[in-house]
Amino acid sequence: MEPLDAQVRIDAAGNFRAVYPAALTHASRLLIGSHLDTVPNAGAYDGVLGVVLAIALLEQLRGRRLPFAIEVIGFSEEEGVRFGAPFIGSRALVSRLDQELLGTLDHRGVSVREAVEEFGLNPEEICGAALDNDALGYLEFHIEQGPVLEQLNRPLAAVEAIAGQSRLEFTFLGHANHAGTTPMHLRSDAIAGAAEWISAVERVAQEVHGLVATVGKIEAKPGASNVIASEARLTLDVRHRSDETRARAVDNLIRQAQGIAVRRGLSVRENVVLSQHAVAMDPFLVGEIEQAIVKTGCKPHRIVSGAGHDAMILAEKVPSAMIFLRTPGGISHDPAESVLQDDVEKAIACGLHLLDQLASCPEFYKRTPRA
Ligand SMILES: [Zn+2]
Repeated sequence: MEPLDAQVRIDAAGNFRAVYPAALTHASRLLIGSHLDTVPNAGAYDGVLGVVLAIALLEQLRGRRLPFAIEVIGFSEEEGVRFGAPFIGSRALVSRLDQELLGTLDHRGVSVREAVEEFGLNPEEICGAALDNDALGYLEFHIEQGPVLEQLNRPLAAVEAIAGQSRLEFTFLGHANHAGTTPMHLRSDAIAGAAEWISAVERVAQEVHGLVATVGKIEAKPGASNVIASEARLTLDVRHRSDETRARAVDNLIRQAQGIAVRRGLSVRENVVLSQHAVAMDPFLVGEIEQAIVKTGCKPHRIVSGAGHDAMILAEKVPSAMIFLRTPGGISHDPAESVLQDDVEKAIACGLHLLDQLASCPEFYKRTPRA
């Protein structure tokens, strides 16, 4: 990025930061970025494509300066693989990388603080990674990581919200007994109750537009082929763009679990592991992205992201929005993850239109900074 006259640094949270200067000094800045970390056995595009696209956009400006500076950010840690806590890089920008998070340990007992030091950075300087009040907004290009755009045959979409998530654990309790000698009507079978409830989870999600609900894990005790299960533990993951709809679905599924348990002579208890609210993207930026998509010759489409992204952390402090690229086969977090070269070209063209639109919009780049 240095040949582009960008000022490059690594901040104290390990984020890559490069500022492409504006036409005039003392201008505000637009942030464009994504994450540089990934998951084990990953693909090549999740996160890093958004950083490379941001750099490609600056190259395509061919030296042209805009009324605002552009800061490219490659976030150091988004996936949460090592410490089980996601968004470490972006949290530093919104001053949410606190002592508790710095003390979080990886599986070898190394804390975030120690990892930052091992990398040659000073955790005491993390407050210096925080955004100044001259940030106008945050844009993130990212692969969709799902099949929707491919199915619609559209290369790009404007993300209008990031879905909220609930994660719960359910435990059905029955009575273990002999699989051969206990007649069907005299059983309290925890797995059979759990199975009935799993079907209800699927049905409830199918009945509500945009709702996704998943039982991704089930464990049974005692866990023998000739023993009726006394215990079945399940996970539930529910997501929707509306927090109210998500909460209603979770309540409904808890009630259904209780009803099934009573009818089958079981008991059930649930435990909320995570409840994360939905984050709306900035309506002005979403509208501008949609216009830019049209200018590239594509049909616009608005989408809700079912996955979490750095944009939802940045949205706490600055107007934020995302552009999704079609993901062939909807495959992500796998070496088979890919993008189409044509779609990447369209994303760059869309980004250039977007920068031009914002540059011709003084209400955007001259807006009073947030406190
Ligand atoms: Zn990602």
